[in-house]
Amino acid sequence: LKTMPVQLNEVLERGFEFFSQQLKVHNIEVVWDLDKNLPMIMADSNRLEQVVVNLLLNARDAIEEKWKGRGLDADKRIHIRSFRKDSSVFFRVCDTGAGIPDPIRDRLFEPFFTTKSVGKGTGLGLSISYGIVGDYGGDIKVVEWEGEGACFEISFPVAECGM
Ligand code: ADP
Ligand code: MG
Repeated sequence: LKTMPVQLNEVLERGFEFFSQQLKVHNIEVVWDLDKNLPMIMADSNRLEQVVVNLLLNARDAIEEKWKGRGLDADKRIHIRSFRKDSSVFFRVCDTGAGIPDPIRDRLFEPFFTTKSVGKGTGLGLSISYGIVGDYGGDIKVVEWEGEGACFEISFPVAECGM
């Protein structure tokens, strides 16, 4: 497995760039909170960008599901955050979408699990993301956040830097 030192903030920004047109079209606001002193991790930035885009895509779908047909009172936001805690680097993608009902929480990362209609979802995004994150010693899970929608948290070990 090919790994390089990766600055996660840059991956988040590139994933966002790739998807930004979609977010504009849907009038979704992105709220940033990046730790500017985030340490590097060892990974493959292209594969991590895929994870970020998957999460943004899901957030867009969940927001559309919740606010479809609503006008000016629609609260459509995605929060993208990065931070360090102890020897791990974290990022979160949280949304103001429909949220995740308890009964399906355990199934999200299963291949082909989807609640979307045929042609709208393959059910592969999160299982592929789970595999990618795991390949670099990381973890992906659903966490609570101040909004009512979903919040995905991904963590990786900080890269050891030699002297
Ligand atoms: P797909 O997007 O093709 O359905 P995923 O593996 O990306 O497949 O997601 C699986 C399921 O997890 C989705 O169908 C949806 O039910 C749920 N899910 C994923 N992300 C979110 C989110 N941000 N908000 C609410 N539900 C979500
Ligand atoms: Mg998906």
